[in-house]
Amino acid sequence: MGHAIVWFRNDLRLDDNPALRAALDAGLAPVCVYIHAPDEEGDWAPGAASNAWRHRSLAALDTELRRRGSRLRLFHGPTLATLQSLVQTCDAEAVFWNRRYDPLIETRDAAIKRSLRESGVQADSHNGALLFEPWSLQTGQGGPYKVFTPFWRKALSEWQLPEAWTAPRMLPKVDSGPSGVALDDLHLAATLPWDTGFWQLWQPGEAGAHEALEVFIDGAMRGYRASRDRPDQAGTSRLSPHLHFGEIAPWRVVAALDTERTAATAPDIDAYVRELGWREFSHHLLHHFPKTTEQDFNPRFKRFQWARADSAQIEAWRRGRTGVPIVDAGMRELWNVGWMHNRVRMIVGSWLCKHMRIHWREGARWFWDTLVDADLANNTLGWQWIGGTGADASPYFRVFNPVTQAEKFDPRGDYIASWVPELADLPMPLRASPWTDPKLLEAVAPGYPAQPIVDLAAGREAALAAYQASR
Ligand code: FAD
Repeated sequence: MGHAIVWFRNDLRLDDNPALRAALDAGLAPVCVYIHAPDEEGDWAPGAASNAWRHRSLAALDTELRRRGSRLRLFHGPTLATLQSLVQTCDAEAVFWNRRYDPLIETRDAAIKRSLRESGVQADSHNGALLFEPWSLQTGQGGPYKVFTPFWRKALSEWQLPEAWTAPRMLPKVDSGPSGVALDDLHLAATLPWDTGFWQLWQPGEAGAHEALEVFIDGAMRGYRASRDRPDQAGTSRLSPHLHFGEIAPWRVVAALDTERTAATAPDIDAYVRELGWREFSHHLLHHFPKTTEQDFNPRFKRFQWARADSAQIEAWRRGRTGVPIVDAGMRELWNVGWMHNRVRMIVGSWLCKHMRIHWREGARWFWDTLVDADLANNTLGWQWIGGTGADASPYFRVFNPVTQAEKFDPRGDYIASWVPELADLPMPLRASPWTDPKLLEAVAPGYPAQPIVDLAAGREAALAAYQASR
């Protein structure tokens, strides 16, 4: 039996893995490899939380492969040279992988494919991550979409899910070639135990992804439309890191939800699939507008006066010490479990970009380092959306009031109490705006900031004035 290199990247699963399937369909024994090469990802090399997740996800993948008689071999980059050497030493006829869409990676991978083919090796890539690859949907004029609704309408009109594929129970064993390095030698795991809280919530790897999907289907799926906005409830699927690392295919998620489709569940399922649609849209935008990881999509913001970054204020935002409880709760949730509820991502983002008038890049960078689901396409879209600078964004003049947001989406104050426990003894609505009763705040939580770092009304006015001035 001949050999093929199956190069794992952000597709850390066996089921529904088109690259693995291609090797087996070609009658080749897969040599499963992962190559660590953060230098090749430029300014957007994975952050600390992402690395901590990847460490565990690679371990889980290796366990799954060993259960099937195979194993995962780990290497350090450079990627092309490593693949070329593996082709030689494993006597491989082909290299298969699933595509990634981050701009630098797309360019790198195209060069790798060219080089391998020029040297006579079969090199094929597949779609393992998306329902629609970024170039597959076009406007009537043949260009990319910039607005979500028509993009999604088009996607639904061309809807066709790939068939599910279950990996075989046993895989051919390949003894030849190098074993690679130990997982610990990749230095992905956190050196300080800041991530201990993560692992009470998350189980990285394919099994964890399937379990999270089941939990969602048995629970929050029913009622998702309403509960998805409530950070005080487990109202969403929490599949984002699993989807980012490719531990489950999005089409498997959709197919599983569809088996539950009835007249009663259809609106919730459609609402959920539409959120997956935003994930598709973000990849579409990033592919067609690769500079938007750094640059505002809307050119009006070239003239916008952002505030000068005050490092103490930014540090207060990062650490959940702004004096605005819902903002602080979100930032502490992020630090402690590597994830933050979508509604709260919008609230903390609006606070940073509007009340504090700090450029969204500052927020995107912090999220990049601290989110377990940090994803270049989704993070860029999320920040340009809330910063008001994006393609199909919330307008800059829509400044979220963090107190009314908290009262609406965390009405009992449970979310605030769980992440800012020093305020738990304050009743609602005071818990969401404790500075309005300074004496009580001082008595209950003397260590908590007495005032928000930016006055709510003044910050809003300054943001709107800066926006007007940028016309
Ligand atoms: P669910 O509500 O269960 O949604 C299901 C899936 O749909 C998610 O797992 C995700 O893959 C996708 N999805 C949902 N909402 C969005 C969205 N607005 N944009 C794109 N995809 C979406 N998501 C990331 O995966 N990585 C990021 O780095 C990221 N950064 C963000 C930054 C900001 C400022 C904002 C406002 C949003 C960001 N999001 C990001 C989108 C969203 O907050 C998360 O996908 C969501 O909170 C993940 O939780 P969930 O899996 O329970 O979501």
